[in-house]
Amino acid sequence: MKKTVKDINVAGKKVLVRCDFNVPMKDGMITDDRRITSALPTIEYLSAEGAAVILMSHMGRPKGEPKPEYSLKPVADRLTELLGREVIFAASPQVVDENVKKMADDLEGGQIMLLENVRYRAEETKNEEPFTGELASLGEIFVNDAFGTAHRAHCSTAGLAKYMPSVSGFLIEKEVKFLGDALEAPERPFVAIMGGAKVGDKIPVIENLLKKVDTLIIGGGMSYTFFKAMGYEIGTSILDEESIGLAGDLMKKAEAAGVELLIPVDTVCAKEFDNNSEKAVFDRDKIPADMMGMDIGPDTIKLYCDVISRAKTIVWNGPAGVFEMPSFAEGTKAIAGALAESDAVTVIGGGDSAAAVEQFGFADKMTHISTGGGASLEFLEGKELPGISCLEDK
Ligand code: ADP
Ligand code: MG
Repeated sequence: MKKTVKDINVAGKKVLVRCDFNVPMKDGMITDDRRITSALPTIEYLSAEGAAVILMSHMGRPKGEPKPEYSLKPVADRLTELLGREVIFAASPQVVDENVKKMADDLEGGQIMLLENVRYRAEETKNEEPFTGELASLGEIFVNDAFGTAHRAHCSTAGLAKYMPSVSGFLIEKEVKFLGDALEAPERPFVAIMGGAKVGDKIPVIENLLKKVDTLIIGGGMSYTFFKAMGYEIGTSILDEESIGLAGDLMKKAEAAGVELLIPVDTVCAKEFDNNSEKAVFDRDKIPADMMGMDIGPDTIKLYCDVISRAKTIVWNGPAGVFEMPSFAEGTKAIAGALAESDAVTVIGGGDSAAAVEQFGFADKMTHISTGGGASLEFLEGKELPGISCLEDK
């Protein structure tokens, strides 16, 4: 267990807080502020306890240069709205400079300020000096609450821990609790649902989950690589050629471990990768040469929803089909609906799966939707995340 902001005295201290404010933007406007609202409990707590709160985050990939389109100014404005009081924005192309140092010095207990995009500095993603030291000069305590970047060892996510007492915020605490409990102490049956585009990306996760789950369900684009491993023709479906052998190995591993591995029995196919393309359902061994699998079929939906309804813990990563196209969203929608109806602990990891759950209106029916795509995958893989391991133990 890692120490949290509740385990240390923060009153009157300058507290550096790494958040994940990497929100989607369009034409200078924030299109989804879930990452900002997820960070509010930690910010509100620290401020109420009398800490001078200095927030840090990255946004996008400015690649070590101050690019105005990646400025965090819109985030400061949204934070000001959401918190109902001013969040001072420390605009500086260098992120930290003499003026920013003065602003941090002058910041009083309870006040909140936000630094500019830490990835304006090339050192950030390399976890190098002098940037880490410059950030460190602003504060006395480091709080990491950026789960979305916890799998990266950067200046602002891990480097700062060398300089000062370091603890987690409430968001990281929550993510570790839900993802960790699901993996380490699941109520059974424990079912994992894996989907998405490529098997290759998710093999290490599937391998780790095979050691823990009772049933592993396969869906989405990766299904066709499994079909291929089973000796079926897959038409023009997405194929992860390099992973055919690995898919076969996973089937053998599941059998040896006594884990039920479910692979779709039928699939919705289309001629083109297009919402308006002609479509039809085929059994998995009958995909026509000129069609591609776009979604799981109705028999598969029935089979999967039945297994889901009996589960007590469910982890879901990766959509069952091309859910962005309404014609091929049925499978993903049915799975999301089955999770929403279930009384099991339901944990969603993965950016697109989280977006699907939101899009279908089931978000508030889930036990936990992880805010970290890559980070939640690495967590499910059983890897140590540097942004978490650098924090002090209780
Ligand atoms: P997550 O972000 O939840 O981890 P991934 O990024 O692995 O999920 O995969 C999501 C993508 O997989 C979606 O864009 C979806 O359209 C795509 N996908 C799902 N099924 C198929 C399919 N049959 N063919 C091609 N792409 C698919
Ligand atoms: Mg994704």
